Amino acid sequence: MTTAYLDYQASTPLDPRVRAEMVEAFEAPGNASAEEHAFGWAAAQLLDQSRSAVAATLNARPEEIIFTSGATEANNIALLGAAAAAPRSRRRILVSAFEHKSVLEAAYAAEALGFKVDIVPANSNGIVETKALFDRIDDTVAVVSIMAVNNEIGTLQPVRGLAEVTHEVGAFFHVDATQALAAIDVDVEQWGIDALSLSGHKIYGPQGIGALYVADAAPWPLEARTFGGGQERGLRPGTVPVALCVGLGEACRLIKQLGASDRNHAVEIRARLLSGLRETFPDLVVTAEEAARHPGCLHVRLPGVGAADLLMRLQPTVAASTGSACTSGVIGTSHVASAIGLAPEEAAECLRFSVGRFSTIEEIDRALSAITSAASRLAR
Ligand code: PMP
Repeated sequence: MTTAYLDYQASTPLDPRVRAEMVEAFEAPGNASAEEHAFGWAAAQLLDQSRSAVAATLNARPEEIIFTSGATEANNIALLGAAAAAPRSRRRILVSAFEHKSVLEAAYAAEALGFKVDIVPANSNGIVETKALFDRIDDTVAVVSIMAVNNEIGTLQPVRGLAEVTHEVGAFFHVDATQALAAIDVDVEQWGIDALSLSGHKIYGPQGIGALYVADAAPWPLEARTFGGGQERGLRPGTVPVALCVGLGEACRLIKQLGASDRNHAVEIRARLLSGLRETFPDLVVTAEEAARHPGCLHVRLPGVGAADLLMRLQPTVAASTGSACTSGVIGTSHVASAIGLAPEEAAECLRFSVGRFSTIEEIDRALSAITSAASRLAR
């Protein structure tokens, strides 16, 4: 039996249209930095086209896009680069309590450069309120980094307001939008942000590629933290993987074209999943149910059920997650669950299901029947 894949927030399946574009690009030799011959020119042209596609999806300019290996690297380049270039009077970094580890740990790494990290709390509904940022910010802050959509519980953050509060004190505002592109329309102009990270494998593109947007109008340019060949405006030096960039460009183009229908589809699929789960677990609690959330994300608590145990019993029939894939393998309570005030015992009862473009009703029904029978075995 094939596995019901309900873990889109860990990695989306590759869209066949993306694969087709990449296969063609993989066939051609050529280094985009090889300026002396036609193969290099062709590679550079593919990069230009891909960069434009990424930019168009964000309402940015192509010159504002830097290719990276993914969102982890983009987050590191943004946080450490913006901190290193900040005026000497600004020595604080503000991040939300439930950022991805690549933001949190990059921020803490900046302590070695003389920065102090302060945490902006989220409320119990999974929202970082602008007031919470306002209460902690002043003109000693260099960088604020707050994600657009949380990767575990799916809550949407008030990005535009957070950016405004940040700019009132002249600091640099970065957004980790890795989970946002599949969840909402992203427009960097409308948000008024300075930098944004994204990743290919959360939007039906390949793993190992992402991008960083840095606004021309940012309060200051990023300082490089990696050194070498000078590619990507010196911020991400090293040979640029042309075929992966082509994949990211096509994934972005498809998101722009299909985003709205993807979201409608996800909402329908998610509703089917939720009503089926409620039949088996009548006291199920949807995390942050009141908040605006990623349409494909369903984070639930099943009181009295050990989530890890249930998930193990569902193998290999259902792929879902007890937390973000990036923190799984690390023993302990999810920092996202802690950030919204769940006790460790409650966090251990939480499961994240995530669905998207290729999810089917048939797949959900298959997953539900496996979940129902696993739950009855657990109860015995
Ligand atoms: N930020 C968020 C919010 C994420 O969900 C992830 C991936 N789980 C990352 C950053 C890291 O992305 P990548 O795998 O591209 O490094």
